[in-house]
Amino acid sequence: MLLMKQLGKVFHTGEVSTHALREVDLEVQEGDFVSVTGPSGSGKTTFLNIAGLLEVASSGLFLLDGENVNQQSDSQRSKMRNQKIGFIFQSFNLIPELNLFDNVDVPLRYRGFDAKERKRRIEQQLELVGLASRMKHLPSQLSGGQQQRVAIARALATSPRFLLADEPTGNLDSQMAQSVMALLEDINRQGTTIIMVTHDHGLAQRAKRQILIKDGRVSELTATLHEPLHIVSPSATEHSAKVA
Ligand code: ATP
Repeated sequence: MLLMKQLGKVFHTGEVSTHALREVDLEVQEGDFVSVTGPSGSGKTTFLNIAGLLEVASSGLFLLDGENVNQQSDSQRSKMRNQKIGFIFQSFNLIPELNLFDNVDVPLRYRGFDAKERKRRIEQQLELVGLASRMKHLPSQLSGGQQQRVAIARALATSPRFLLADEPTGNLDSQMAQSVMALLEDINRQGTTIIMVTHDHGLAQRAKRQILIKDGRVSELTATLHEPLHIVSPSATEHSAKVA
């Protein structure tokens, strides 16, 4: 479970301070699928990077599975990120010289899985995304939608509980975007919690919850459509803080 309370992020560049996030209160439950929309420069990527432990908030509380992230060292955060979080990006970020098998192998090697377990996971993930027959292909021999599927397989190979997606369909035509979205929905149904930044309002509406970020402030758009709104009450926060 992810809990943010009065979370803020300020970037200081020379004399200029940019308030990228302000007073963010948000709770994301296990199994949620949250879409994040908002104007350019409103703080979406900053939010995702903080949620994914790539950046640290400047103020407020951030608990991930009860751990007080802001108080952790860089190495503790990085360990937690490797264990719990998978990322996918608009530009796929595959390694062009490596075939699909070896691309998906990268995080598994990094995490120190043995060769047999790595092979099992790679085959399982490529099967899941429908590319098991293309293992020896290079990324350049695939369509954009297929490349994003490989990136999803790679992100899921280490079995993270959270999948964070920054504009995952931004480089895809509408048909490919639909198929990547359907895959993400499938993955969510199997239990992975997903937070997805998108400019595509049609796709955003398919998530279980929609949040909007505007001028660094987060608001919930879909309280009535799906689950009850996860309002963070002061008492819940105090309780979680004590647990942490
Ligand atoms: P877009 O939709 O255009 O990608 P976004 O909603 O993802 O935008 P962010 O990238 O989170 O917006 O940026 C939020 C604000 O923080 C912007 O004003 C941006 O210029 C600023 N910002 C982001 N990263 C940094 C940084 N490393 N240093 C200084 N300012 C930054």
